[in-house]
This record gives sequence, C-alpha cells and structure tokens, in this order.
Amino acid sequence: MALPPGAAPGKGSKNHTLKVGDVTVTALTDGSITFDPRVLFPEVSLEAWKPFYDRFPEYFAGQHFRNNLGSFVFSSGGQNVIADTGYGPHGKMLGAPAPGELMRDMARRGINPADINTVFMTHLHGDHVGWNMREDEDASKPAFPNARYAVHEHDWSHFTDAEMLSGPRGEAVNRSVLPIQRAGLLDLMTGTTQLAPGVEAFHTPGHTPGHMSLLVSSRNERALLIGDIAGSPMQLTETEWLYTPDWDAEMGRQARRNIIEQAIEEDATVIGSHLSYPGWGRIITWEGRRYWKALGE
Ligand SMILES: [Zn+2]
Repeated sequence: MALPPGAAPGKGSKNHTLKVGDVTVTALTDGSITFDPRVLFPEVSLEAWKPFYDRFPEYFAGQHFRNNLGSFVFSSGGQNVIADTGYGPHGKMLGAPAPGELMRDMARRGINPADINTVFMTHLHGDHVGWNMREDEDASKPAFPNARYAVHEHDWSHFTDAEMLSGPRGEAVNRSVLPIQRAGLLDLMTGTTQLAPGVEAFHTPGHTPGHMSLLVSSRNERALLIGDIAGSPMQLTETEWLYTPDWDAEMGRQARRNIIEQAIEEDATVIGSHLSYPGWGRIITWEGRRYWKALGE
C-alpha cells in the first residue's frame, strides 16, 4: 500500500511548534499509514464514519483512516523531553510499509537526538517505541545517546511478561525496549512524575495498564498529551465505540471520558499521538456533542 499524497512528514507545515507558556512543543512525525478502520473498530460499519468525512478530511483516504505516527518534543528550562519514538524503520504496520521517517524529520526540524534528555514512552506498543534504538545505523546503540528513558512500571511488567514477550506484541519490546533496560537507561515511573519544569507525566490506564499522559502547565496555559486514549479524532465524540487495541475496553472508555472532561475544565490544548499532523487542537461542543477541532496547518 503506497503512502497517500501529502503524507510526507511535516510537508508544507509552518505551524510545527506550539507555545504553552514557557514550554515549547515541537511536532515530529514518523510518517503516516492508511488502513481499513474495521481492523481496529470491528463493530463499526464503514458507513458510520461518513458523518466525519467533512469534519476531518485530512484523516480519511477514501474509506480508510490515515493515521499520523506522531512524536513531540517538550522543551522547558533547558530540558528536552521526547514523547514516543514512532514505529521505526522495520516491516509493516497494519499492512502498510513502515515509513520510518522520525530521524529524518528531527533533522529537518533542527533537533539533535543528542540534545534529548528524556525519552518518555506513553506506553509500550510498537508504534511508540520504534526508534528507541538507532536501527538505521547501529541497532545496538540508543538513538538518543544522552537520554534516560521512562515508562510506567505497569507497562513494563505487562509487556515483559514471558507470554507477552513470545507473542506478537513482544517483538517491539524485545527489539526496542529490553536493550534500553539492559543498558541501565530505563526508569520506571510509579505515578505522577515531573519530567521537566511544567511537564508532568500522570497515569491514564485503559489503552494499556501503564499508559501515561502529559500535563503541560506554564503561565496559566495548559496542554494535555493524551497518547492513544483517542487513537482517532472521532473517538473524542464516540467515546464508547469498542477500540480493540485497548487492553481494557471499559477502562479505555473511562479514560476517554475523563481526559475530555479534564481538557474542558482546564481549558487545555489537546495533543494526540495519532491525530493528523501536527496533532494538536481543542475539544469543542457542537449541537450538544463534543468534537475534536484541529489547530495549526
Ligand atoms: Zn499508537
């Protein structure tokens, strides 16, 4: 399956940075993939997505979804935190060739991997840890040579269970997470953890047991990186539709409801891992329903 037109990372984008008070957020992408939504939403017909076509044209390639593989750098107080490292340069994702663009996109944005202090993983699915190691050059070397890597302890224990490691979810963990731990570079978080001034990770389980989000707060402005709590913009409206990548379907639904309420209450910009590049926007209310409204580009 070829990449859709316009899928080149960051192409034509001028608004690839966001200021949240004194914190600068830079949007990066590992590329994007298209796939049949029934793979992840088996109970939802193709017709059910049609009302969203006009609202999110950038998200659809015909009847298929076009998912961005987003990463974000949070710069604050001289610290640089990268949230997630994409799918990486190997194999296929949901049947589409892996674009593997992240390192090139960082170079385009003028961000040196050596300047990253912390690699924060929202969770340990393969499309969030793919560039932990420098697989295009020397797969034995961490891609971020001066960084500590951080993940919630519940994801570590869940994904390094012997049965998990020998299954399909284990491949990425074996390849991209265990080497980090063996090198002594992995920190396990047990709860709310400050990663840089005004940048705090907190536990939002459901998609995975140790899924974490980031709260950015600076000078009365706030943003929330919600990872995969909503893997598509429609889930901020249809919070209850079964999303099979969720580890616990009901906790996944509750996490979506909670993060929407938090974003509204705190007037926060919302940043999502798979929302169309650059990946940030607001929650709006339209005819009594909640919707994602992208900002930028
Ligand atoms: Zn994901």
